[in-house]
Amino acid sequence: MVKTIRCAIYTRKSTDEGLDQDFNSLDAQREAAEAFVKSQKHAGWALVPSRYDDGGYSGGTLERPAMRHLLDDIDQGRLDCVVVYKVDRLSRSLLDFARLMDRFDQRSVSFVSVTQQFNTTTSLGRLTLNILLSFAQFEREIISERTRDKMSAARRKGKWVGGVPMLGYDVDPGGGRLVINKKEAQRVRQMFDLYLTHHSLSSVLAELEREGSQNKSWKSQAGRRHSGRPFTKASLQRLLTNAVYAGNVEYRDTIYKGEHDPIIDSKVWEEVNAELRAGRRTGPPAARIKQNALLAGLLFCGDCEQPMIPTYTAKRSRRFRYYVCRSARRNGWSACPTKSVPAPMIEESVLEQLRTAFDNLKTRNELRVSESDLESFGQNPAELVRAVVKKISYFGKTGTVQLNLRTKEAGRED
Ligand SMILES: [Zn+2]
Repeated sequence: MVKTIRCAIYTRKSTDEGLDQDFNSLDAQREAAEAFVKSQKHAGWALVPSRYDDGGYSGGTLERPAMRHLLDDIDQGRLDCVVVYKVDRLSRSLLDFARLMDRFDQRSVSFVSVTQQFNTTTSLGRLTLNILLSFAQFEREIISERTRDKMSAARRKGKWVGGVPMLGYDVDPGGGRLVINKKEAQRVRQMFDLYLTHHSLSSVLAELEREGSQNKSWKSQAGRRHSGRPFTKASLQRLLTNAVYAGNVEYRDTIYKGEHDPIIDSKVWEEVNAELRAGRRTGPPAARIKQNALLAGLLFCGDCEQPMIPTYTAKRSRRFRYYVCRSARRNGWSACPTKSVPAPMIEESVLEQLRTAFDNLKTRNELRVSESDLESFGQNPAELVRAVVKKISYFGKTGTVQLNLRTKEAGRED
């Protein structure tokens, strides 16, 4: 006997797709998918009674009622296969799409798009999947990097090796490890917040002086009492760049996961250190960043509609480039849901999207891209990117990247 494959049909149509003939109505999508399921009846395919129809919802987010219903049923083990009319009905966000595919995989649910083969040459399907792959590749790299981090941390143990304890921690009397001093930890958090507000050591220092805030007072093993001193610019910088606060241990320019609990959220720490460590680097970092930041001035935070500013942090002699939302930077990390995005990820996805768009002659004409433009694009993409891209919006929560291009109609400045 053939094993029954329980199939769900998912349909979606957003309100602004009304005029586009390509995007058939929910009923038409469903009809095509039903016919497909029927054609596979011999293989045991059978439709489940539930309908998963999202009328009037954008594919840029997963916050859709029928999608939620579908994911619920998948998690409950009620489905074996999801059938859609077109790949983009499921999601227009590539990160979301990749996540959905992972989730389907975990529950052994397969996915079928009725009208599109994965190697289709029609623009959207290929475009979507190309970007998807580069996203997925990047995520895999990040994950394996994290795994390697964990392994090296396990080797190095991240132990506290002694010395003068820093504000926010005490040394456990039972042994050489750090324990959080709650009162002091509160003050440390406040100092990081102040830095994120002012972006200047002098301003933070002035604020600390006003409050009469002092550095840690502590007792040496011999029992000698060292009283706290007022902060200086140098001691404040040492505090803010101390990897211990993010729960890490730094040893010879290498950062290991520590045994102790963090006081500062690692993203906040990295944001502060992106600035402070960049400042103390030798050479002209500003020029280098500018040169490397392909999307500077073009990339905007989709949530705040503020520019996303290039910056970087250095770890293990490698630089990690980011774009940070200006509002997150000015008003604190919690002010913005997008916060920051790794630069290689967003840059590669934009380039991939453009490469695919340029493959299409019609699109190329619309964007007024010549053959010689294309030749230089491979070597030095910056010029052409600036010529054809008007604005890029990035929504961190959904991983959606919106490219606004200068087509003939929209007017490309020469
Ligand atoms: Zn933002």
